[in-house]
Amino acid sequence: MQKYKLYINGEWVESGETFTRVNPANPKEVTGEFQQGNEEDIDKAVEAAENAFERWSEVPPPKRGQVLLKVAQLLREDKEDLARLETIEMGKVIIEARGDVQEAIDIAEYMAGEGRRLFGFTTTSELRDKFCMTIRRPIGVVGLITPWNFPIAIPAWKIIPALICGNTTVFKPSSDTPLCAIRLVEILEKAGVPKGVVNLVTGPGSAAGMHLVRHKKVRAISFTGHRDTGELILKEAGLKRVGLELGGKNGIIIMDDADLELALDGVIWGGFGTTGQRCTAASRVIVHEKIKEKFEKLLVERINKLKLGSGLDPSVDIGPLVNKAAQEKSQKYVQIGLDEGAKLSCGGKIPKMEGFFFEPTLFTNCSIDMKIAQDEIFGPVVSLISVKDFEEAIKVMNSIKYGLSSSIYTNNIRNAFKAIEKIEAGITYINASTIGAEIHLPFGGIKDSGNGTREGGQTGIEEFSEIKTVYIDYSGKLQRAQIDVE
Ligand code: NAD
Repeated sequence: MQKYKLYINGEWVESGETFTRVNPANPKEVTGEFQQGNEEDIDKAVEAAENAFERWSEVPPPKRGQVLLKVAQLLREDKEDLARLETIEMGKVIIEARGDVQEAIDIAEYMAGEGRRLFGFTTTSELRDKFCMTIRRPIGVVGLITPWNFPIAIPAWKIIPALICGNTTVFKPSSDTPLCAIRLVEILEKAGVPKGVVNLVTGPGSAAGMHLVRHKKVRAISFTGHRDTGELILKEAGLKRVGLELGGKNGIIIMDDADLELALDGVIWGGFGTTGQRCTAASRVIVHEKIKEKFEKLLVERINKLKLGSGLDPSVDIGPLVNKAAQEKSQKYVQIGLDEGAKLSCGGKIPKMEGFFFEPTLFTNCSIDMKIAQDEIFGPVVSLISVKDFEEAIKVMNSIKYGLSSSIYTNNIRNAFKAIEKIEAGITYINASTIGAEIHLPFGGIKDSGNGTREGGQTGIEEFSEIKTVYIDYSGKLQRAQIDVE
């Protein structure tokens, strides 16, 4: 079995304790032995990042962009290998794993171009002979903590904008996907990212992750993961800047005037893509009562055709869940749904297969207060709620603590625009499923899905840079704002 290392100050080093990870489609296959990074490793990584900061932040941003363009090129060359690795490490089907790598390529290309922008703005002054502008400055050492469900794309969404803005980084990936993190860092190294600028510490969130969060020399934390972990991080981070991208309980509204085939495609893709393990997964279907029966019947037919298996097999629709705990969680929620009185229309069981599989599951006759309609299950379990009209659909849509993604299928343009206005979510799709973020648009949620930051595109630059306001007085005399204005 191969043993992998931490990456600190440009060296691949050991920590001491190690852990192993298995292929979720075939748990007998161990994917590697990884370092259980600890607080001391985090200290070393932060020190390396601190020492590298001055030099990296002085590299002209277009030159930093050239390094990122090289990253994009190397990712493209390795796309198929990385995608296969991702499927083996966390289970998603190969076509989606390719998409995950493509997202990292896209962000690297976009941010490479940002090296020639990083815009501030100029404006007027209330005083004569005075010039006013803003510029962007790096923040310093930033800590990046990521989940396993997009193990190449999410780290890239953080590391790459952080680098173009001139920051140095300590990256703590999920212990379910350490190998994808290592491969990504190897590519950054090969592209010419100088030593100390990116440091990688694999290991437990509660020790390595939390130490990074509390570290006095870390100026910002960017975290993607579970809502409760995010809340804890916010409490522990002190006065650092904290960006949180958290969970969701995303809904699709299907009105009686919708194109049903299109809506079915959207529910299948949103509800069962990535085995329901996306923060933007559509785990609630809010359907108009007039079409409820027909839609349910068509949906069950479609669900029953979905093929489970290893994500490496291109004919497979649904891969395994990421680990045993996730499988048990889906099973637990099926029992909760039954106890709550929802009707199990299909699925609901652990199939007799090697690996952490779970049958694609549909509950109908759900009501908004049920736990299965409120909690993020993060598995292939969808709840269907029927409503009498558009107003009730919006009410149900907004009846959760989360506010990440949302969707409505309708051919009524007034309802489409009203939905854009009324739905409480960071993202709303019209006649498309809840998933499908593009890298140049803001990504993030409201309510318990985040704390106001957005990643992607220009908002990614905002997350990873400070704004400095500059006043240049060329009058040659003391001029006092608000006082010498007559
Ligand atoms: P998680 O919160 O368990 O773990 C995320 C990361 O945080 C891991 O690296 C983990 O080791 C680390 N961590 C755990 N406890 C920590 C602590 N006390 N201090 C510091 N770090 C700690 O989440 P997960 O199971 O890996 O991911 C699934 C969750 O992520 C879901 O809730 C999903 O909705 C969410 N998610 C959100 C987005 C988004 O952009 N909004 C994207 C993907 C996933």
